[in-house]
Amino acid sequence: REVVHIVLNETVFHPQGGGQPSDKGTIGGIQVDKVTLDRSTGVVTHTGIKVDDSSSLPSPGDMIGLKVDACLRRKLSECHTAGHVVDAAMAKCGLCLPPTKGYHFLDGPYVEYRGTIVSSERADVLEKLSRTFTILLEENIPTKIEMMSKIEADRTCNRLAQNFDFSDHPEETVRIVTVANFPCPCGGTHVRSTGELKESRWGIKGIKCKRGVVRIKYDQL
Ligand SMILES: [Zn+2]
Repeated sequence: REVVHIVLNETVFHPQGGGQPSDKGTIGGIQVDKVTLDRSTGVVTHTGIKVDDSSSLPSPGDMIGLKVDACLRRKLSECHTAGHVVDAAMAKCGLCLPPTKGYHFLDGPYVEYRGTIVSSERADVLEKLSRTFTILLEENIPTKIEMMSKIEADRTCNRLAQNFDFSDHPEETVRIVTVANFPCPCGGTHVRSTGELKESRWGIKGIKCKRGVVRIKYDQL
């Protein structure tokens, strides 16, 4: 089947980025499997295949309907939001390690931090972290999304171990997302409150420490 790349003047598809996979769905007769954002140009490219080989491709200037796979979007939003809750739980447990990576894909999501937890304490930390994560879901804390100036964003986010650099941010304002009362800059998709993650049974799965990196694995339990 013919692979098609589509660029539109605007889109409802979330491109892959910030550790979150892209949406899937359809654009006209094209099945979209991957959506990428070129950060240097801001161009979003939808890549997919023609469902029906006989259908014609859209031309520049055509109006076209976009359909995002809502079920997948929901799952990805949950997975990504749960990653934020891991950050919040870490801070609440006094584990103020600088975050280095988030992997919010459905095949074994995790969040990584710089640092280590000595092996003799790992079981206790895991227990405490899991309990804290669960409490944050039970508190059903609403997600807050705000646009802030870089100064305000710096003041809001760079407490504890966080050290986000907003100096090279291309726009005047920064999108700050607060999940479980823990703010950070984010362009991802989120559920409305932490309680929604309780219903779908998200939780902490394990801790792995290797070469100065702490990996907290989480998933639907
Ligand atoms: Zn986010």
